[in-house]
Amino acid sequence: MPQTSNDASSPADANTPPNISVRLLGTGGPWVDGERFGPSTLISYNDEWLLFDTGRGVGIRLVQAGEDPAAVSPIFITHHHLDHISDLADVLITSWLRGRDKELVVYGPLGTETIVDALMNIVYAKDIEWRSVGEPAWGGWKPVRAVDVEPGTVVDMGRWKVSCDYVVHGHKLGFRKEFVKNWRCLGYRFEAGGKSIVVSGDTVDCGGIRRLAQDADVLVQCCFENYSLCEGDEHLSRVAEFTLADTKQTATIATECGVGHLMATHIRPKSDDAMAVMEKEIREFYDGPLTIGTDLTSLTL
Ligand SMILES: [Zn+2]
Repeated sequence: MPQTSNDASSPADANTPPNISVRLLGTGGPWVDGERFGPSTLISYNDEWLLFDTGRGVGIRLVQAGEDPAAVSPIFITHHHLDHISDLADVLITSWLRGRDKELVVYGPLGTETIVDALMNIVYAKDIEWRSVGEPAWGGWKPVRAVDVEPGTVVDMGRWKVSCDYVVHGHKLGFRKEFVKNWRCLGYRFEAGGKSIVVSGDTVDCGGIRRLAQDADVLVQCCFENYSLCEGDEHLSRVAEFTLADTKQTATIATECGVGHLMATHIRPKSDDAMAVMEKEIREFYDGPLTIGTDLTSLTL
């Protein structure tokens, strides 16, 4: 069920346009990369911070960005690959240690409730009890709640709304049926004050990302590799076909959906020359405002 509330904690003056921005906290993938941390995107709406995915190093990037981990709420998970959730427990627990005084909600695809339950009640149960009892200055554990979501409205706060849709991320790689049934991958669309920001999650060009990205002001789109490189490589061409958008797909989605500003993310480690090729290839199919993401890049709407 969508969460709704009219309890506006942000400035509610109808004449003041909201302050909306998007920050790429981590622009890498599962590859260990000193330059690019794991996938994570922060959308701010006035004094609220919505976090999309919790990849490797997200807590560090939050602090480097000057943001308070305690203020993050809620969290949206796109899917359950390691690189998107490896630091989920880190955010859930350290937000408390930084002063989080309210319940923190985690939305994600089928299985998110099970993962959060395992992290909080098995993996880190002793840590939480130890800190709750042994360090009472923290004021006792502040709970987290996970919600498995399906396509449609995820949260509607009135002042902002987040919806989601399924995207295609490796579903046709030959997995057993039972696995595919439970492999749910989401993209998200944030809307507020007439503006929209889409976070693609991991996906190839598909109906789900196109529905989400239609006329979006900003599209944060996974773009793992240059299409010219994929075409000549058996493994990479398979990734581009089934798993992650390459430069050509990324640019085509943005152009055909009328996206206002494209931000490419989830980028494989590559040389400066290959990064220049990435921009050139996207430019072959997209001529609008473009940001080739690096960690901590931000954009104000
Ligand atoms: Zn993935």
